[in-house]
Amino acid sequence: MTFAPIIPPLGLGTWDLRGTDCVRAVHEALDMGYRHVDTAQMYENEREVGRGLKESGVPREDLFLTTKLWLDSLTRKAVPKTTNECLKRLATDYVDLLLIHWPAASVPLSETLGAMSVLLGSGKARSIGVSNFTTGLWRQALELAPVGVNQVEFHPFLNQDDLVRFAREKDLRIVAYTPLAKGRASLEPAIVEIARAHGRTPTQVTLRWLIQHPGVAAIPKASRREHLRENLGIFDFELDEAEMKALSGLGRNLRLVDPGWAPDWNAR
Ligand code: NAP
Repeated sequence: MTFAPIIPPLGLGTWDLRGTDCVRAVHEALDMGYRHVDTAQMYENEREVGRGLKESGVPREDLFLTTKLWLDSLTRKAVPKTTNECLKRLATDYVDLLLIHWPAASVPLSETLGAMSVLLGSGKARSIGVSNFTTGLWRQALELAPVGVNQVEFHPFLNQDDLVRFAREKDLRIVAYTPLAKGRASLEPAIVEIARAHGRTPTQVTLRWLIQHPGVAAIPKASRREHLRENLGIFDFELDEAEMKALSGLGRNLRLVDPGWAPDWNAR
């Protein structure tokens, strides 16, 4: 029995979506059939995400909603306080997944996860997890709390073989962020060729490759209606083994999100 949540394989990323654009994109996405939305305290758009969810009229229990605690909100006191503020902005009583946005050197992991476990017990977080954790850090976290999910950068140019293997062994889940490599994946000739063979777009092939990994969900950000719709069209075709391998072979450790506070990615 896993403690990892059931996550809809395709979600809407909302980094950089602001104001009425954010409300509209969330509302449109839900109208089209999205049921998974990713936000964060740091995105400063939780209020708009909450409005989009409400305007869509989709029942709360049908949605999978993730938010993340920023680096300044990881102490025993700050975790419940910030989470309550997030819930208020999102206009909901709970999130489906509460993540530590980045590993922090300044607060012991045991302190943060202890406080998050209390939220799990109270039902304000239906599940808890981490983001930007290496395999080694995730293993440490798992000794402290049931962190069933790790949200990491994952696209054809940054494959996450080690993490995927670890997650599979332990029946955990990975959420792939920046899954389109911010548009670069759709320009890659090998992906363009596979897309042509399937009568699909390179973006659809990229997303399909991600969600065909067991236990992996992807959260592309899209504000344009046609992008939202295109990204949903990945559930009625399959990549064969050779095509999966061809995309995996494009990995060249290209990290597009690598701020100064990132962990040592090569540490085991
Ligand atoms: P991304 O999803 O790889 O790329 C987003 C870009 O791709 C946008 O410019 C979007 O354009 C475009 N796009 C979307 N669908 C498209 C399509 N079908 N055809 C062509 N272009 C398309 O990058 P991201 O926003 O960095 O990552 C996605 C989400 O991951 C974020 O929004 C956020 O929720 C999450 N994230 C998490 C972390 C973390 O530290 N945990 C870090 C980064 C991101 P339009 O907007 O114009 O439609």
